[in-house]
Amino acid sequence: MPDPVPIAYDLAGLRGQLAAWRALGETIVLVPTMGALHAGHISLVDIAKRHGSKIVMSIFVNPTQFAPTEDLSTYPRSLEEDVAKFADAGGDLVFAPDVETMYPQGFVTTVVPAGPATAGLEDRFRPTHFAGVATIVAKLFNQCRPDAAVFGEKDYQQLKVLTCLARDLDFETKIVAAPIVREADGLALSSRNVYLTADERQRAPALQQALAQCAGAIRAGEPFADAVAKASSLTEAAGFAIDYIEARQAETLARLSDPAEKPVRLLAAARIGRTRLIDNVAV
Ligand code: AMP
Repeated sequence: MPDPVPIAYDLAGLRGQLAAWRALGETIVLVPTMGALHAGHISLVDIAKRHGSKIVMSIFVNPTQFAPTEDLSTYPRSLEEDVAKFADAGGDLVFAPDVETMYPQGFVTTVVPAGPATAGLEDRFRPTHFAGVATIVAKLFNQCRPDAAVFGEKDYQQLKVLTCLARDLDFETKIVAAPIVREADGLALSSRNVYLTADERQRAPALQQALAQCAGAIRAGEPFADAVAKASSLTEAAGFAIDYIEARQAETLARLSDPAEKPVRLLAAARIGRTRLIDNVAV
């Protein structure tokens, strides 16, 4: 049995523990999450261990990154199980603040990112999302002052937004990218996969399969537009309604002006039933 992991619910508890560790020369790595942990989150913990000696996981379902029409009230919450999984993975501290701790009465300041945050991908469908993400991550960085923080490529646009945030606002936190963890059939792990019906779950890997085929076709020399059109047809044939499937410059997420521009990333969001899935692959 691993040692139980302490949980800090407020800033005093968090800062007290972190100060004690720093006084001993420990280095801190933060893994921000919204909980409902799966193997993708745990892979972030494993990667975090390569970048520091104490691993802190924040678990906070951040209301400001949800639109009023989205699933804030139904988002899966399982703190007790999450803490046990994090302990099994060898984590050191959970930070699980409530909304009042993160957004006390009178809170009025928002970090509004541009660049990759306004690339016309997720932001087209979730216009307030990245301001919510950037604001909460800026707060977490100030609260924890981590040496490094790990983010999944699963949320690829978010990863690029937060890389710019850390650089532009001079956070002394190294941003570490973690590869996407997938089910055996290719579906990217997501806390939202629990929303899928059995039938939708069976069809869901089609999104990743379409992206992988598209990447292969582009590598083999097929024009981007043709390859992306085929990926869209495959995804729709599986019963998805597509928000976007696009090939972009992998670092800036800019539209590709020159077809030879590299590296390229394919990014997609599509809805199946009431579940919205996002995914991406390297070309
Ligand atoms: P979330 O709890 O969905 O906000 O995700 C917390 C962190 O886990 C983010 O950095 C995500 O990109 C990352 N993550 C979520 N799903 C996966 C996955 N399947 N593989 C790798 N990282 C993931």
